[in-house]
This record gives sequence, structure tokens and C-alpha cells, in this order.
Amino acid sequence: MLELSALAAADAIRDGVLSGSELFEAYRERAAADAAAGESGLNCFTWVAEQAPSGEPREGPLGGLPLAVKDLFCTEGVPSQAGSRILEGYLPPYTATAVRRLTDAGASVLAKTNQDEFAMGSSNENSGYGPVRNPWDRARVPGGSSGGSAAAVAGGLAPWALGTDTGGSIRQPAALCGIVGLKPTYGAVSRYGMIAFASSLDQAGPLTRNVADAALALAQMVGRDDRDATSLEYPHAVAQPSAERLDGLRLGVPEELTGEGIEAGVREAFAAALACAEALGASVESVRLPHAPHALSAYYVIAPAECSSNLARFDGVRYGMRAEADDLLEMYTRTRHDGFGAEVKRRIMLGTYALSSGYYDAYYGRAQRVRTKISEDFRAAFEQVDLILTPTAPTVAFALGEKTGDPLAMYLNDFCTVPMSLAGVPAISIPCGLSAGLPVGLQIVGPAFSENRLLDAAHALEGALAFDGSAARV
Ligand code: GLN
Repeated sequence: MLELSALAAADAIRDGVLSGSELFEAYRERAAADAAAGESGLNCFTWVAEQAPSGEPREGPLGGLPLAVKDLFCTEGVPSQAGSRILEGYLPPYTATAVRRLTDAGASVLAKTNQDEFAMGSSNENSGYGPVRNPWDRARVPGGSSGGSAAAVAGGLAPWALGTDTGGSIRQPAALCGIVGLKPTYGAVSRYGMIAFASSLDQAGPLTRNVADAALALAQMVGRDDRDATSLEYPHAVAQPSAERLDGLRLGVPEELTGEGIEAGVREAFAAALACAEALGASVESVRLPHAPHALSAYYVIAPAECSSNLARFDGVRYGMRAEADDLLEMYTRTRHDGFGAEVKRRIMLGTYALSSGYYDAYYGRAQRVRTKISEDFRAAFEQVDLILTPTAPTVAFALGEKTGDPLAMYLNDFCTVPMSLAGVPAISIPCGLSAGLPVGLQIVGPAFSENRLLDAAHALEGALAFDGSAARV
């Protein structure tokens, strides 16, 4: 039963051939064993449910399905720490809307997953709870910041998981772990109850074994939520993908995101995926995203600026840990000194500087103008083509420790994923092959609210590419 996709398991439970509580217990035991092994295991989880939910299997389309949830989603009465020591032991009094909608549809929270602290990172090495290992090669990173979610799904420790993506944190770990990761259109899913990193970029989405499971989760997650003023009514129903061909579809390949900086093995797998798309009936042409190469520079001003504001609330008074001190100011500074890790402090300092009087226009204002240019690039490109294809990440999974000393090298991981975050458009990563035995991700991008088309194209390609992820199951 652990081989079943989420969709197949939900069907089996509904047909009465599989018991939801048995399925939950089977995953729970595996997850608990990983948690007990600490850093000698995959270290995917920061919390695992103590028992299967009691009583009758839950009603709804996801009835009985276990769900792993990234640590930064607030879950009532369950530790929600955003990978940070400053929130150690924090038990929120409410549950994030994205999680609530999945549990209302019948899913049950199996575990909380390890992540980079406050979702800042690309390797999961910035977690306050230790690094996560990649199930394809335990000496390598799973990507980040949703590294625990990706490793848990790839390793077969959870049927599917929730993550968040601010600049690539669903897509890049999905790519490095050989699974599917979907970042929806900004505003499609409520951010209520997600511990914020950069509010104009953060978006929740699923990490799954296949494209159909991503559609199944997304269908329950979307929609306006009165508690998030940036959330929108999704304009149509999210459908189960069924396409097997791509006839008539126009696909664009931007030279800016597919050439220099992409390692050879990734480029080869990407080229093979393009050939596969053509064989399925799509036309492939070149498009331009002239401002995309500036996306990283703009992102690493905008995201730290927003984080410096969002993280001001962690002052030892309202949430989580509080350092001992003789007076209030010393308590604030000690709490933040002891509670935040190095990357979080670096970003708070960068963001505070970029927003300070006299520098605001030169840095933040300019970055916002670049952001507008990038959105305009996508709008122009989508007048020419239906969807855009790029590699998801410039490299396959790298060794633990390889990039921790060089933040700029780490930031380059997001080269292909950040432009879509700045533009707010949806993008999915699906595994498209192996390079030196490690998975390569293909990113498919569409205009706002084109998830149905995106999922259909991904489904057709997934069928033709026939990627086999079974080698990673623990
Ligand atoms: N790796 C990027 C960063 O460190 C993106 C993180 C994310 O999407 N949450 O900011």
C-alpha cells in the first residue's frame, strides 16, 4: 500500500479495499523511525503524530490520506517552528487555511517536515533542527527550503506533502529529489497561518509523487480566504489532468535561463525533455525574457526587505523562546541573537539596510522596478507561446557542506525559479531524467491561473518521460 499514489490510495479507501487508519499507521511507523534516527536518518521530520486518528475514516475526497506538512504552517496544538530555534516548542492556537482545507477534505496530518529556517535557503542546511539528507544519496542535500517535505515524499515516508515557495522552495527540492512540486499562481492559495518570510512572494503548494496527486491537492487548496486579503477566488475548477499528447501546444524556451550556468548533465536531460515534447506534438520555439537574469539581484533585495519586517515580531515577548536578561532591551537582543541562525541574521541586516532612509529608492525601489519589467517579459512571452520550459535548477543535488561557506553560490540555485516568483505566475517541476544517477527537474511555467493547462502538459510529459523514482524509497 505504500507504493500507491495519493490519488490511488484515496480511491482504494473510498472503495473499501484499503483502510485509512492502516495506511496512516504504516506511514506513521516509518516516519517515527526516521525521526528517532535523528541526523543519521534522513531527518525529514520535526514532529510525527503519536497515533492514527481514532474513529471512523474521515469523509471527503481525501478521506483517510496522511499528509506531511512543512513546519512553517501553523497547526493547532502541534509544534510549528518554521525550522527555527526561536520558535522551539511553539504551539499555535489555530491551523493555516491551506492545511485546514486539506483536512476538511479528509486528510490527516501525519508529520511536520524539516525546513531551512524561516524558509531561507536552498539546501535545508539552514535548519535549526539539523540538515536533511537526500534519499538518492545521503551525502547530498535534498534542496530547500522545503527539503524535509521533498525527502519524505521521495523516500516513501509520506504519500505527499505541503511546502511553500518564495523563490523556488517547492520546485528546487522537488527537482533535486526526483518528485513533482507545484508553485501555484500568487494569490491562488491563502497564506493565512503560514509563518511569513516574504509576503509578496510566499505561496503554498504540494510536493507529490506524480502530477495527478498535485492536481488532487491543489483542487482542495485554492480559493479566496477572508483571512488573507491577497487571496483570490480561483476562476474555474481545478481539473484532474488527462492529456497524453501536446498537439498544437506552443512551448517557449528562454535562452536567458537555459544556457550559461546550467551544468552539462542538466542541459542534456532538458534537451531530451524538449525532444519528447516535440514527439508528443508540441512546437518548441525560442522566447526572450530579457530581464530574467536580473531576477536574483532583485529577489535578494525584496525578499530580505520583507523578511526584516516580518521577523521583527520575534522578540521574546509573544512567541517561542525568551532569553534571560536583566532588562527589556537586553532580553530582545539576546533572544534574537540566540534564537536566529546566521542566514536569517544576514537577511535581516540586508533588508534593514535596503529599507533604511536614503537607501530605499536606490535598492528597494529599483528592485521593484526590475520586478515589474520581469512581469512584463512574461506577459509578452505568453502572447507568443502557451507555456515556457526551463530546467528547474542549474545543478543536480550537491554534497552536504559544499556551498554552506559561500552564500552567493547557494543563491545561484534559484536562478531559474526566482523570475516566476517575482512575476507571480504558476510553475511546476517534474522529474525528467537522471544525470550521474541523480534526478533532474523540468520546470513548466504558464500565465496566472493556467494551472489546468500546466498540469495537463506536465501529465502528458510525465507519461512519455516515464521517470522511475523507486530507487530513492527507503
Ligand atoms: N532559496 C531561496 C531563498 O533562500 C528561496 C527560498 C524559498 O523559496 N522559500 O530565499
